[in-house]
Amino acid sequence: MSKPVALHVVWLRNDLRAYDNAALFHAVTAANNDADSAVLAVFVATAASWQQHHMSTIKQDFIRQRVRQLTVELAEQGVAMLALEANHYQDCRPVFAKLSALGMVALYSQPEYELREQQRDRQITADLQAAGVAVHWYDRQCVMPPGSILTQSGDTYKVFTPFKRNWLARLQQLGVRCYPRVRAEKFYDVSAIGEQLALPAMQNGDNSAAAWPVAEQQILEQMRQFCQQQVADYQRTRDFPEQAGTSGLSAYLAIGVISAQQCVNRLQLEAAVTLEQDKSGASVWLSELIWREFYKHILVAYPDLIKHNPFQADTAAIRWSNSKTLFDAWCQGKTGYPIVDAAMRQLNQTGWMHNRLRMITASFLVKDLHIDWRWGEQYFMSRLIDGDFAANNGGWQWAASTGTDAAPYFRIFNPVTQSERFDPAGNFIRRYLPELAKQSAKTIHWPHNKGTPAEYWPAVVDHNDARKITLALFAEVKKPN
Ligand code: FAD
Repeated sequence: MSKPVALHVVWLRNDLRAYDNAALFHAVTAANNDADSAVLAVFVATAASWQQHHMSTIKQDFIRQRVRQLTVELAEQGVAMLALEANHYQDCRPVFAKLSALGMVALYSQPEYELREQQRDRQITADLQAAGVAVHWYDRQCVMPPGSILTQSGDTYKVFTPFKRNWLARLQQLGVRCYPRVRAEKFYDVSAIGEQLALPAMQNGDNSAAAWPVAEQQILEQMRQFCQQQVADYQRTRDFPEQAGTSGLSAYLAIGVISAQQCVNRLQLEAAVTLEQDKSGASVWLSELIWREFYKHILVAYPDLIKHNPFQADTAAIRWSNSKTLFDAWCQGKTGYPIVDAAMRQLNQTGWMHNRLRMITASFLVKDLHIDWRWGEQYFMSRLIDGDFAANNGGWQWAASTGTDAAPYFRIFNPVTQSERFDPAGNFIRRYLPELAKQSAKTIHWPHNKGTPAEYWPAVVDHNDARKITLALFAEVKKPN
């Protein structure tokens, strides 16, 4: 009787890539070092749990499309992959129990930071270790993993600027390491076990993410070109939604088609980024990648955030008016404020929204419509292709002045002046609001004055009145200094 193959199993989750994948690298290396071993990659789709997190259908489809593509890419490097369909996170547990019975000797994976996922990972780790299976976790969601950037007294930074200073110093000290793509010497025949795992093969999605390419090489090339050709102008162009001034990589970073390590590495190679806090495009882009890490560190240090509690506890008592009618107008892009409406239609039509517009629409929902930021947070999550709990929660709490290092509550964006400043010719508005196509650059930002040529949705609130109400709402809960 032939000896069973010793299986090194890589459990892929939000690291859906072949390059710079520590878990995959270590599994393949271990399998290559032992003639009786093979490597198997596993992905388990968990639609019911995704829905509990309000994951958008476009992101669900994007993940499924990427997993299909990754199955092909991994096969080209000798790694077999099983993509399965479950319901809940907990349904993964029996899969690994079965794999352990079928000869798994080690599991390799990247931790996730959300609570239920961590709970599931602890259970599976305990199950497997009890069965004698080695479990290896590689925390590579961030260049500097949560817990590695701390104040002198060992606390998590609550303010971004000193966090960034410390982060940059560590980068200078440690550099950044990317793992190479590795080829498995032996291809494992999954047909032998596929049927025994008691879960069906992963289903197809609804094709809503068809406009987003999913080939890893293409995304790496997009990132390389951005670092070579566009990043120098990033500081100048990044706030203008009509210009393609940002990288467009957030969806890929969110599911790990590329890693932040690869971005930083490439940035250093192409743009000679200075590690000082300067104002070059490359340094400003690096800052955005550090914001991404800041919010992940905060989430891990303050796990209560996953329950959508405000970071500043006193703001929990704010008496939001929560008008369903106003909320619907905001969601549908019918508030009468063209920049807000165009932005919401960009989100609804494409699954993505420019960062400047995320700030404007979030501020508008909270500080003009007086709606609880959590309604907006959830709506964004249910629409975004790049939905990421830490970044979305951080962004919303920043805009609502309830978060750590948030905008002060008395800083209230004026949507009309923001529109004039960041879409001066009105071209972005025109792209998403055909009803305003004939407005001039002068009238498009506020098409409600007498004598303007077209009718538009009436403004749902008066900004100046709304501003006063916001100040009063915050004054009620904020203690005087
Ligand atoms: P670039 O400008 O090219 O930036 C490069 C990368 O840095 C991004 O891909 C992203 O991973 C990261 N990044 C940039 N800005 C931020 C930021 N402010 N906070 C954290 N990371 C950042 N980003 C998400 O990835 N997912 C979200 O769910 C999300 N929700 C947001 C909600 C609100 C209310 C706000 C204000 C911001 C949110 N952001 C979110 C941050 C930011 O808007 C997007 O990351 C950015 O628009 C993505 O475009 P890009 O890839 O071209 O970014």
